[in-house]
Amino acid sequence: MKLNRNFENLQQSYLFIDIARRVAAYKEKNPGTDVIRLGIGDCTRPLAAPVVQALAQASEEQGVAESFHGYGPEQGYSFLRAAIASYYARWGVNLAEDEIFVSEGAKSDVGNLTDLFDADNTVLIPDPVYPVYVDSNIMAGRRIEYVDGSRENGFCPLPGAAQKADILYLCSPNNPTGAAYTRAQLAQWVAWARQNGAVILFDAAYEAFIETEGVPHSIFEIDGAQECAIEVCSLSKTAGFTGTRCGYTVVPKALVRGGTSLNAMWSRRQTTKFNEVSYVIQRGAAAAFTPQGMAAGMENVAYYKKNAAVISGALTAAGVWHCGGKDSPYIWLACPGGLDSWEFFDLLLEKANVVGTPGAGFGKNGEAYFRLTGFGGAEQTAEAARRLQKLLESL
Ligand code: PLP
Repeated sequence: MKLNRNFENLQQSYLFIDIARRVAAYKEKNPGTDVIRLGIGDCTRPLAAPVVQALAQASEEQGVAESFHGYGPEQGYSFLRAAIASYYARWGVNLAEDEIFVSEGAKSDVGNLTDLFDADNTVLIPDPVYPVYVDSNIMAGRRIEYVDGSRENGFCPLPGAAQKADILYLCSPNNPTGAAYTRAQLAQWVAWARQNGAVILFDAAYEAFIETEGVPHSIFEIDGAQECAIEVCSLSKTAGFTGTRCGYTVVPKALVRGGTSLNAMWSRRQTTKFNEVSYVIQRGAAAAFTPQGMAAGMENVAYYKKNAAVISGALTAAGVWHCGGKDSPYIWLACPGGLDSWEFFDLLLEKANVVGTPGAGFGKNGEAYFRLTGFGGAEQTAEAARRLQKLLESL
């Protein structure tokens, strides 16, 4: 028996373990200090009332013989796929229901989509970015190349003329940088993918945070993207489903390579390896797409963005370069005074009792940067922003 040796090529990720260890050690030495966490990448606001009502009602239905649901369609119930299709219509994107596959979240689909491609492919991944793209391709033994995000390109790298790859990951708005591609920039990647026969895996997990005119919510807003892209999205950050679990992946029927439909392949993959998201959760997810559900979800998004604006205001006042926060809950700042991201982590913890996430955890280009988020409580965020500004102004 042979194990998958590709796992030996994974770098051990100690990021969140290291953060927890350093915070625990600091608190042990300094009992009673009020440490505020601005590193959190998870929602803290509760589910909206219409979603909770739908979940409760669907649970009741499951206890009655006449309305009980056993196995449902692997691709998701029509009532939810239709709701998702209507949501996309808001951006002028027309999707057929059978181009939408309901999932239990974006993370597993991002990883599982690698089943569609041979190991003998080159994958292009922006750096810095959500680490799941890199690790799931290392597990599959693919060649990985990186395209560099930097302050100069606003952490929205674009294709060079000589850039070659078979599969490209894009995450916009981006985790960790909060940067979001404009329509013209995304159109460059779509043109590149079409020229090279590449497939774009587009992660739109944070699309609900977009407010800037001209920043697409979906890659399918770009002409020609239906022939070269798959989009993964989630209710995690849109509707607070991080612990409830529901997402969706769009595989257009126009996406064909070597005469084979990727939509048909993904359908086959899902019907073989996946049973549907539970009926109860799909009812809750459908409620998140009703006008009342969306209004309530957007109130929470606005709450997180207000926090992000408070943090951004403190950084601006202290004269620290940063991006994100506008179309995203994430703020990405340049570590002051030539510190690397772990040095700044320690300084911020010790001098301001604030916890963030070192950029080094998101790729080599994150070494001198730091991620803060708007997912905390409003009061704690305002207090943390005051401490952050004071510390930065004292350096
Ligand atoms: N994609 C990105 C860019 C993320 O940042 C996250 C979670 O933080 C996910 C996907 C995972 O989403 P889900 O909760 O739907 O699995």
